[in-house]
Amino acid sequence: MHTNTIILGAGLTGLGAARELPGSVVYEAKDHPGGHVYSHHQGGLHFDEGAHICHAKDPEWVELLKKNAGDVVRMDQSLVSNWWHGHWVTYPVQNHLRDLPVDLRIRALTEVVEAQVQSNTSTAANYEAWCLAQYGETLTEQFYREYTTKYWRTPMADMDVDWLAGRLLPSQLQRIIHGAIAPLDEKQSVFSSFLYPARGGFFAFFAPLYREVDVRTGFQVSGVRHRDRKITFTNGEQVSFDRCISTIPLPDLIRAMDEVPDGIRDDAETLRHTSMIGVNVVVNKPSLVPWHWFYIYDADIDVSRVKVLSNLIPESLPPGKSVLQTEVFRRDDEAYDLEAIKKKAVVDLGRIMGFDPEQDVESVSHVEVSHAYTIPTLGRQAAVDRITAWLEGIGIIPAGLYGKWKYVWSDQAYAAGKAAAQTAMALDH
Ligand SMILES: Cc1cc2nc3c(=O)[nH]c(=O)nc-3n(C[C@H](O)[C@H](O)[C@H](O)COP(=O)(O)OP(=O)(O)OC[C@H]3O[C@@H](n4cnc5c(N)ncnc54)[C@H](O)[C@@H]3O)c2cc1C
Repeated sequence: MHTNTIILGAGLTGLGAARELPGSVVYEAKDHPGGHVYSHHQGGLHFDEGAHICHAKDPEWVELLKKNAGDVVRMDQSLVSNWWHGHWVTYPVQNHLRDLPVDLRIRALTEVVEAQVQSNTSTAANYEAWCLAQYGETLTEQFYREYTTKYWRTPMADMDVDWLAGRLLPSQLQRIIHGAIAPLDEKQSVFSSFLYPARGGFFAFFAPLYREVDVRTGFQVSGVRHRDRKITFTNGEQVSFDRCISTIPLPDLIRAMDEVPDGIRDDAETLRHTSMIGVNVVVNKPSLVPWHWFYIYDADIDVSRVKVLSNLIPESLPPGKSVLQTEVFRRDDEAYDLEAIKKKAVVDLGRIMGFDPEQDVESVSHVEVSHAYTIPTLGRQAAVDRITAWLEGIGIIPAGLYGKWKYVWSDQAYAAGKAAAQTAMALDH
């Protein structure tokens, strides 16, 4: 018997699932596929949803992306920095303490050494405790807490530590001491080398793959009757399914369902995420900074991170200009004023990078991303496990960034889609 498996959401998880299940249909709310890896065409340029780069190492995956994008730029050494209260501090700060004022440097180094000798991060109950155990008080307060406030919009003590692997480098005392005394010969970063398409933005890596699958855009899920195996969409359409792979945000899925145990509804409502306002700025001045991207720690500056697109793909962009893609975050339960955010971002960047926000700016555009990062709040994983177990029991397989409410890189999202397709097929036997 043929089993009808449908896929909700055409991000990379949906793509991975669809390619594993030939003949399946993907239903996508927006007017384009891609989810977070989509690149928005504005003023003749492509801007991503946040600073996307490819740092995957799997040769098969990398070959596939290179073939898709055609012309690809490879950076063997990423140039990354931090802006902190008027200083450029090489990334990551703990390995480059000599970039800090001398009194702060001595204090931070002393505390890092004490922290490393006394503490054990494996028992840290939350992100605050983990940072203090890794870095000591000065670095935690001056850098990590300040950045967390603007980036995660959540108190450090309310955050879990299960997201840190692959995002933050564990501290190595020898490197920290070296970096406090003399420059480290190697600029260490979580991603030292990376690839980026020469044209078309990050989405160029995936666009040809979407032409191989059946994606129906403009289909936003509005109702799920799981006993009847029916899904309805805001455009009035309705489809039947035997199995369903869902990559849409868990709370949205649960709210759309007709029969849900109270505990599962409550679990779904505890899940928090950030929204992102990407402010894209074209400045009529070249080479403002040498970095591929940089982080801004200062709490009074809204922008958390700036990707300098003109340093990634200079040959593909108009000469004599700096093209900046910036990220500002808000929590899902915070209101914001878009125009005020854009205006402040340009003024703050002008001050940091040395351009006049009135005279030198050619254009300012934006990309609003309602769901940016899932926030790793304490208790989040247990809630997701309960929701997932219930959904899988009724033949709905949640997968991907917002299906599992846990950060994944783009290659991991695609792999999660493939794995979900295997799970769906296994349920039939
Ligand atoms: C700011 C940011 C920067 C990142 N940078 C990198 C990077 O540098 N390198 C890297 O490898 N990865 C990066 N990632 C991670 C990567 O982009 C994601 O993990 C991946 O794209 C997630 O794919 P997904 O399919 O699971 O989810 P999504 O991309 O969120 O796809 C879900 C889809 O479901 C659709 N949808 C939502 N609700 C409904 C509904 N009700 N009905 C129908 N459809 C719906 C959405 O429109 C979306 O298309 C970044 C992520 C973010 C947020």
